[in-house]
Amino acid sequence: MTLLDGKSLSLQIQDTLQSIITKLPSAPKLVVLLVGDDPASHAYVGMKAKACERVGIVGEVLRFSHDVEESEILAHIERLNRDTSVHGLLVQLPLPSHINTTKILESISPHKDVDGFHPLNVGRIQCNTQIDRAFAPATPLGVMRLLEHYHIDVKGKNVAIIGASNIVGKPLAALMNNACATTSLCHIHTKDISTYTRAADIICVGVGKPNLIGADMVQEGAIVIDIGINRLESGALVGDVEFEAVAPKCSFITPVPGGVGPMTIASLLENTLKAYRLLESSATP
Ligand code: NAD
Repeated sequence: MTLLDGKSLSLQIQDTLQSIITKLPSAPKLVVLLVGDDPASHAYVGMKAKACERVGIVGEVLRFSHDVEESEILAHIERLNRDTSVHGLLVQLPLPSHINTTKILESISPHKDVDGFHPLNVGRIQCNTQIDRAFAPATPLGVMRLLEHYHIDVKGKNVAIIGASNIVGKPLAALMNNACATTSLCHIHTKDISTYTRAADIICVGVGKPNLIGADMVQEGAIVIDIGINRLESGALVGDVEFEAVAPKCSFITPVPGGVGPMTIASLLENTLKAYRLLESSATP
C-alpha cells in the first residue's frame, strides 16, 4: 500500500509556482470575500492567504459581517470584476441563508472565477471544450493532479464517486469522464453504495461522514481517495474512510489530513496563475 502524499506534492507545486511567479512582470492577485464568523471558513481562508504569500500571489481578504446585504456583496464583486489588478476572485462558501449563493457565484466574472463555479466554467468542464480557458474547481482538480503524479491512469477504470455536490462530486465526475474513466456518481439517495464501491478500481469519497467507507466495501488493490474532512469531538481530523481497516486492502490511499486538502490549495494557486496569464494576455474569449 502506498500513501498518496498530497502534502509534499502540494509543497512541490508551490515551489514551482513561486519560481514562475517571481519572473512575472507583476504579481497575480487573488481576492477572497469572506462573510460571517464560521470558524471553518476562517481557517480555510487563512490557509489560502498563507499559501498565496508563500508563492508570491497577492492575497486580499475582504471580510463582511454575517448580516451584510446581498447587494453590498454584489457591488463589491462588480467592482472587482472591473479591477484589472485583480486576476482571481472567490467567495468563501457557505454563505448565510439570506444571501442567494447562485446569484453571487454567477455574478463573478468567469475569467476570474478561480473556484470554477460559474456556469460558463462548469459547462466547459462538462463538455470538455476550451479547457485551456476554463477553470475546474480546486478540489477535483487536486485529486486528478495527485493521481497523475503517482502515474495512476484513470482511462478505462471503474471509478465510484460518493458525494455529488457541485463543489466536489459532480465536477470530479466530469474530470474523470474527460479522462475516459467509467464513472458512477453516488449520493444520499443511492440505494446501496457498496454495490458501486466494491466494483470500483478507484473510490473517491467526499461526503462528510466519518467511517462511511469500511473495509468490506472495498475490493483488494483498490485506490481510495478520501476527500472528506470531519472534526471529531476529540479534536482529531478524519476523512470519510475507516483508514486503519481499509488501508491494508488498498494499492494506494490518501491520508486525512495530508492528502486531498493540501492539493486543493495548490490547485487554487495554479488556477490563479492561469487566470493571470489569460487576463494579462487578453486571451479571454
Ligand atoms: P455537501 O453537503 O454539499 O454534499 C455532500 C454529498 O454527499 C451530497 O451529494 C449528498 O447526497 C452525499 N451524501 C450524504 N450522505 C451520504 C451517504 N450516507 N451516502 C452517500 N452519499 C451521501 O458537502 P461538500 O461540500 O461536497 O463536502 C463533502 C465533504 O468533503 C465534507 O467533509 C467537506 O469538508 C469535504 N471537502 C473537502 C475538501 C478538501 O479540500 N479536501 C474540499 C471541499 C469539501
